Amino acid sequence: MTLRARLTAAFLAVVLGPVLIGAVFVGVTLTAVDRSRSAERLGLAASTVRTSVDALCQQLRAAADAVALRTDPAARAGAAGQVVNRGLATAVLVADVAGSTTHVTPGAPPTPWHDCAGGGAADGPVRAISARVDLRDPAGTALGSVAAAQVVDPAFVGRLAAATGVAVTLLDGGADRVAFTTEVDGVRETVLAATGEQITETPDGRYARRLGPSPGQPLPLVLSVPGERPAGLPAVLLGAVLLAVVLAVLAAWRLGRVTTRPLVELAGAADRVARGDLTTRVPVRSRDEIGRLAAAFNRMTRETASYVAALTSSRDQLRGHLAVLGDTLASTHDLQRILRVILHSAIAATGARAGAVFLLDNGGDTLVGRCAEGLEGRLPVGEPLRVPVGAGMIGLVAASGEARRGRVEPTEAPAGEPCCETYVAVPFTAPAAADPAVGVLILYDRLGGAEFDDDDLVTLRTFAGHAAVAVDNVRVHEEAQRLSLTDPLTGLWNYRYLRESLRREVERANRFGRMLCILVLDLDRFKRVNDSYGHAAGDAVLAEFARRLRGEIREVDLAFRQGGEEFVLLLPETDTRGATIVAERLGAALRDTPITVDEQLSIPVTVSIGIAVYPDHADTGQEVLDAADEALYAAKAAGRDGYRVAARRVDAVTEEIAVTEEIAVPAGPVSPEDGLPRAGPGSRPTAQGAGWHAAGASRPAPGGPRPATGGASSGPHPPRQTRGR
Ligand code: GH3
Ligand code: MG
Ligand code: MG
Repeated sequence: MTLRARLTAAFLAVVLGPVLIGAVFVGVTLTAVDRSRSAERLGLAASTVRTSVDALCQQLRAAADAVALRTDPAARAGAAGQVVNRGLATAVLVADVAGSTTHVTPGAPPTPWHDCAGGGAADGPVRAISARVDLRDPAGTALGSVAAAQVVDPAFVGRLAAATGVAVTLLDGGADRVAFTTEVDGVRETVLAATGEQITETPDGRYARRLGPSPGQPLPLVLSVPGERPAGLPAVLLGAVLLAVVLAVLAAWRLGRVTTRPLVELAGAADRVARGDLTTRVPVRSRDEIGRLAAAFNRMTRETASYVAALTSSRDQLRGHLAVLGDTLASTHDLQRILRVILHSAIAATGARAGAVFLLDNGGDTLVGRCAEGLEGRLPVGEPLRVPVGAGMIGLVAASGEARRGRVEPTEAPAGEPCCETYVAVPFTAPAAADPAVGVLILYDRLGGAEFDDDDLVTLRTFAGHAAVAVDNVRVHEEAQRLSLTDPLTGLWNYRYLRESLRREVERANRFGRMLCILVLDLDRFKRVNDSYGHAAGDAVLAEFARRLRGEIREVDLAFRQGGEEFVLLLPETDTRGATIVAERLGAALRDTPITVDEQLSIPVTVSIGIAVYPDHADTGQEVLDAADEALYAAKAAGRDGYRVAARRVDAVTEEIAVTEEIAVPAGPVSPEDGLPRAGPGSRPTAQGAGWHAAGASRPAPGGPRPATGGASSGPHPPRQTRGR
């Protein structure tokens, strides 16, 4: 059973019950009151009838007495006539002892008359009532009787009705038949339903009671009154009840609908919310309980929606953080990015407006801002973030290794540092290291203006710890990377890095249309060094040679140990001439100063060098390396302690192949004082002396035929060595 059906049923019960009870009550009460009033009226009428009939009987008796006083029959007849004439009786009858009529006034109704004392012809039709007195002579002898009568006719009955105020019906004595009645036509027989002197209700809604015949009232009468209930009361009541039923049903239906409709809407809305539609709202139509429930429901869904939105946004934030974390993890060695994430997270966690991460520079005496956020407008434009260790807020934190926090008056802002009102700065050191701080994490101006508190300090220490780990990781990684690309004996880059650098530099030279020079260097007769001084001494020679190598090149130049006692120099943006200058200088640096091992052994060492230039001598990095190798062999073949430049490639026009190009270079027992080679015939020394041999006798004329490979060298070419690459 639905709620609406239950509500409707309850409403009907509540409304219709009292209506039905009321209708019954009204009906019963009205009937009772009506019956009671009618009984009262009939009782009153009965008394009136008795009184009237009794008075009539006394009048008739008096009239009979008056006639009986006459002793003379004629006088009696005259007295009887007077009595009738005076209206004291309708008729007078004188009878003898035997009961025979001796005199009767004219117009007398037929006998028998109903005697007031009862008895007599009470059973026959009532024609008159009479009072009888004995007729005696003066001696008291009974002579007969005198009866005075009053005719009973419709007029008599009408007078009785008028006197009583009720309808009077005269019955035939003995027979249950109406003789006369004042009742209206159509209802005259219904009064016969009355039995005895009790009030009887007739089928047509009248009340009737019988009266007489009885002593003193010989007439068989029925007194009746119409009921005073409104006509059609049952119908009216029934109609009212039916109307109430109809109205109650309508009201119950309406009430049920009005009451359950918001609940149905609420149930539907709850269903939709359960399916996930948090935009669901129910109309609030009233301020009653249902309205409050609807408003509360709307508030609940609104709050839930905002909670869900907050959760979604925090989930999105979490995803964002995960993405950032993923990025950060992916870029484990991208120190800049890691520091940026750490700084951003620290700012978000403490509610700061700005912040920066400072790291010690290589010298260890200056802190350099590596990452900053929100510092716009806090520093003079273009000012670099550099703070000396020990100076200002940041420098003091780094120097003392202790965190600081507080407020800074605008006038006290340290020079070169971002201006702020409040700050908190935490130093960080490499994990498990007792070294002074490697950096400082500092935040500026907490939102709301309050100073940074101890909680912020704790939070910042955590982030600073992360920064320290990140810095250390990156440094360890850089060191590992450097070790993987360097040669442990000499500290120079290894062959692997040579390949990579060559590719990169060739690409760059290609892109910018620059030259690139490769020098391949091989120590001369190094096997002998090993054999003569031992392998350890050979190693020391190699290390010292590498050191001198580094000392002779620019910062942008790269030095590699290709393997064994063979080295490579990569000189970006250098042409043949520049390369020969370097080769010359290197040869001199080695030749002029023998290498001292263990502070007692002086080992003279020389080097042969092959030079190739990109793009003059080859199209690719490997080719230019091979070309330099070829030139090295030419230098070896030429007697060692000298250099050779690779020959130009095949000339498409002349189809002449030149492998090694001779360049006029100085050669002599000592290097020029300024360390730079002298070009040209005037400056060229003779090709003899202590091991450094000029590669060629003359520079070929521009555009002229080029000399064949090794054209200036003499002696057999050394076998191509196997290098430990
Ligand atoms: P050349 O003038 O023709 O180059 O003569 P060379 O003796 O230098 O040439 P070779 O290739 O025959 O000998 C190279 C020698 O270098 C062989 C090896 O004993 C030595 N060598 C290679 N690597 C190392 C090293 O790491 N340490 C030492 N001590 N010697 C090395
Ligand atoms: Mg060699
Ligand atoms: Mg060698």
